[in-house]
Amino acid sequence: MSDDEDWLREIEGEDDEPMPEISEVELRKVFGESPSETLVLSSPETMEHFVLVAGPRRSWLWCLHCERAYPLGSYRLVEELQMCPYSECEGDTVLDLWAWQKVRDDNPHYPEIPELGIVYPLYGER
Ligand SMILES: [Zn+2]
Repeated sequence: MSDDEDWLREIEGEDDEPMPEISEVELRKVFGESPSETLVLSSPETMEHFVLVAGPRRSWLWCLHCERAYPLGSYRLVEELQMCPYSECEGDTVLDLWAWQKVRDDNPHYPEIPELGIVYPLYGER
């Protein structure tokens, strides 16, 4: 089993969630951007890719490293690695990626749709 398959399994859900429609401008503002890195966003162009992925998917992901949420399909391309889209975060999108729903299972008071840029600690408020 490849890392790619692990990644897909992690974001599988029982039902497809609608992809969030967030403008590129807003995403760039909240993620920040470093000139030396490529920021890939969940724009309609990249969403097409995920339409091709068979089966249910989660549209919101959460970074174990910075504990912030972001929409599926957004990441920073650093050399060959897909990293958390928030600039300066060392988390990647393989080991440090959780489905938002999984975080909510332990924190039912968290919103169904997370806010960008907000830190949602795994074990409740600090
Ligand atoms: Zn992160």
